[in-house]
Amino acid sequence: MKFHKGEFVSLEGKNNKTFLTYSNGYVFVGKNLTLKCLFDPKDKWMQYALKQKIKYCRIIKKEVKGENRFYVQLILEGNPYRKYELGKEEIGLDIGPSTIAIVGESKAELKEFCEEVALLDKEKRRINRKMDRQRRANNPNNFQNNGVVKKGKKEWIYSNRYIHTRSKHREMERKIKDVRKQLHGRDTNQILQRASSIQTEKLSYKAFQKLFGKSIGRKAPSMFLSILKQKMKSCGGKFREFPTYCTKLSQTCHCGIIKKKPLKERWHECECGVVAQRDLYSAFLARYVTKSNHVDIKKAKGDWVQLSIVLGECVLHLEKMKLERKLISTFGI
Ligand SMILES: [Zn+2]
Repeated sequence: MKFHKGEFVSLEGKNNKTFLTYSNGYVFVGKNLTLKCLFDPKDKWMQYALKQKIKYCRIIKKEVKGENRFYVQLILEGNPYRKYELGKEEIGLDIGPSTIAIVGESKAELKEFCEEVALLDKEKRRINRKMDRQRRANNPNNFQNNGVVKKGKKEWIYSNRYIHTRSKHREMERKIKDVRKQLHGRDTNQILQRASSIQTEKLSYKAFQKLFGKSIGRKAPSMFLSILKQKMKSCGGKFREFPTYCTKLSQTCHCGIIKKKPLKERWHECECGVVAQRDLYSAFLARYVTKSNHVDIKKAKGDWVQLSIVLGECVLHLEKMKLERKLISTFGI
């Protein structure tokens, strides 16, 4: 079967008995076409999935490195595969536009969101600028003197070089999407393995974007949270988001004092003597937010002796990484 570009998007069967069917590693289309499927024999999830009853299947086209690839999707009956056992800790999270703080009884972490994506993104923007230059060079008559595209109907000439750059750009977009998905998967799993429950502030995507602009799309913290939520729930763990405006975590100290701090202030330093890195401290407090959206001050106080050590260890670790120049964000360290 030959598929031409743009002609074929997807094909879906009504059940696994008629036109499009799957059986033992092969897809059968109609009476005459048999396609062999490639898959990773070590993939445990796949092994589990292939034992389930198939409702119907679907063929999807994707462009990879400028070539068309075809994927078969099986729509199954049965229960989802559980890869992970939940942990035992109550975890508090503090998610910023580019950072995440994770605090549990035994360990605190503070890291840059999807660090690896930032580098790819830089490369993508470079390719994008190249594409733009080529497009302008090929079509000088389509632009006004000030560089803005002319209005009205235009013919565009696409050189082979431009088409090559465009395909590289698409490839990069696909790669970024894949890497981000992988990183989100890895990071959410790490949290899952420690957590029996998770508490965090509800993200205000709009407020984020207002303050920090484009970096949000790249690192996609809201996507991260929705993956975490979904996994946590499918494993039977607790996941709760509380509204920011009720709790005011960034202004609260567990001694009871509430004081407004400027955003650039990276440390929580209270009159009562409590000192902690701000994101870590917010994640610590997130653990004590009650159902009525207040911080359980008494409980937080009781745990602080132990948790202040845990937070301190995290800061020591970051200081060491900073000395070894392994940090992108400084987190105020
Ligand atoms: Zn205080």
